[in-house]
Amino acid sequence: MNFSKSAQLFHQAQKIIPGGVNSPVRAFRNVGSTPLFISKAKGAKIFDEDGNTYLDYVGTWGPAILGHSPTCVRKAIQKQIKQGISYGAPHLQEIEMAKIITEWVPSIEKVRMVNSGTEATMSAIRLARAFTRREKIIKFAGCYHGHADTLLFSAGSGALTHSQPDSAGVPKSLRNDIIVLPFNDIQAVEKAFQQHKKKIAAIILEPYPANTGLLLPKANYLKKLRNITQSENSLLIFDEVMTGFRLAKGGVQEITKITPDLSTLGKIIGGGLPVGAFGGKKEIMDILAPEGPVYQAGTLSGNPLALSAGLSQLQELEKSNGWVYLESLGKFFENGISQIQNKSPIPFQFHRAGSIFSIFFSEKEISNLETAKSSNQKTFKKFFQAMLKNKIYLAPSPFEAGFLSTAHSKKDLEKTLNIIEKILPTCL
Ligand code: PLP
Repeated sequence: MNFSKSAQLFHQAQKIIPGGVNSPVRAFRNVGSTPLFISKAKGAKIFDEDGNTYLDYVGTWGPAILGHSPTCVRKAIQKQIKQGISYGAPHLQEIEMAKIITEWVPSIEKVRMVNSGTEATMSAIRLARAFTRREKIIKFAGCYHGHADTLLFSAGSGALTHSQPDSAGVPKSLRNDIIVLPFNDIQAVEKAFQQHKKKIAAIILEPYPANTGLLLPKANYLKKLRNITQSENSLLIFDEVMTGFRLAKGGVQEITKITPDLSTLGKIIGGGLPVGAFGGKKEIMDILAPEGPVYQAGTLSGNPLALSAGLSQLQELEKSNGWVYLESLGKFFENGISQIQNKSPIPFQFHRAGSIFSIFFSEKEISNLETAKSSNQKTFKKFFQAMLKNKIYLAPSPFEAGFLSTAHSKKDLEKTLNIIEKILPTCL
């Protein structure tokens, strides 16, 4: 397979873009090669500058739930462009988006749009601190909530892949107010609340963490977090930037019936354009400026282009009830994988929730960052490269999840399963 144009472009990019990429997750250094330069993406496929076509399981890191460049989103963007690109003033689509979010995610009574998941979590934390008049925040090791200073401790995703879960440049003083705990360990949470009585403003978590690979919460874990935060007058923040609108219409909170105080959203609600949102109980949201004293703002927040893209994607998902198809695809994939698992020369764990999945090369059960880190990363590297050679595009890290879209077919999955079965023995 020829990657020479991508290699050349990467060489150029490195001279003028740090590491040659605009987000570290895109770098291939962890898998021992250089990133592909993409020229086009459509449906379940992406195309590189060398003319190779791949079946894509990255889905632009989550937003592409209908596949790449779906017709409905393209049409909505084209229509909006005729009306205007940005107004910097209120407009109808903001109300439409807020209506959909508050209807589909009932714990969100009021919502504010921002431009990224990072802005959403950063703002939610500020709001939680102001509302509770407390400063400490509990986060879990391996959960990634974007790159705001406060949340870059023991972070997952690219920070973990490139061995910088505590970023340089974040003031050490901020560490005093962040309590990092292992995921799935309720006793650690209870202990923290005993140790820091009336000081913890909130727990923030990805309810199904998908930035250490995909982790699944143990039975009743989320419920216990809800009970503790309620009895301690702290807030529970669900970061559903990844899971929102993907796992169900109402995200993990719909599936688990756990109601957080605040939620953060992103990815799918932008239809591939930059968007984030945070929302929750009215009484909390109403302390935001200009209503209240918590300042939060954005030149392009709620911009009509991104909202038209996001709205069209959400409406199409609802119209086609995409979640049913995605679950059937996920189940099909999981069944195929478990057949392979039974005869695989390499032990591995497969995690799946709806259309999110990940593979850990480990004999052990994976339940938190520590166990995820103990999975065999050398095997992952071989696996990734072998998949790429077979034109399957996965995230270049064992700590990133894979995504199915409604543009994937069972045939695509069958093909992928056959390839996995064929290459596994070569990854030893
Ligand atoms: N929260 C979660 C759960 C995420 O997965 C991400 C990004 O992957 C973020 C927040 C940050 O979002 P963004 O990259 O849009 O800033």
